[in-house]
Amino acid sequence: MRDTIHLDPPKEIVCIECPNGCRILAEPSESGVRFSGYRCKRGLAYAEAELTRPMRTLTTSVRTVFADSPVVSVRTDGEIEKAMIRDVIDALGRIVVTRRIRIGDVVAENVCGSGVNIVCTSDRLVNAY
Ligand code: SF4
Repeated sequence: MRDTIHLDPPKEIVCIECPNGCRILAEPSESGVRFSGYRCKRGLAYAEAELTRPMRTLTTSVRTVFADSPVVSVRTDGEIEKAMIRDVIDALGRIVVTRRIRIGDVVAENVCGSGVNIVCTSDRLVNAY
């Protein structure tokens, strides 16, 4: 967790909540932080979270034991703290899928204690391409 937010110079945050990609500026103000450049409340919430506790969805792949598909794609079923992504990627690097899973099957529960699961996003192991 971050104790102090440094905004000198002001921080520019590109909102990724929709394709508009608004550039939101965070500047110090007497009441704390002033945000400008956002077009909606979602963008403001995103910018506030980016300053305090940035979250991300992770999409990647894990190894399998199957020669016809040595890797299978996976993603988190929710957002995890951006600061945890390296730990989660390392944990997924130790996973080898040993059964023919399909879309939605859980590959790892509560990964790294995040409260988020890793789920399969491909039917590659059950349907030949
Ligand atoms: S601030 Fe609103 S309109 Fe702009 S990119 Fe974010 S979600 Fe889209």
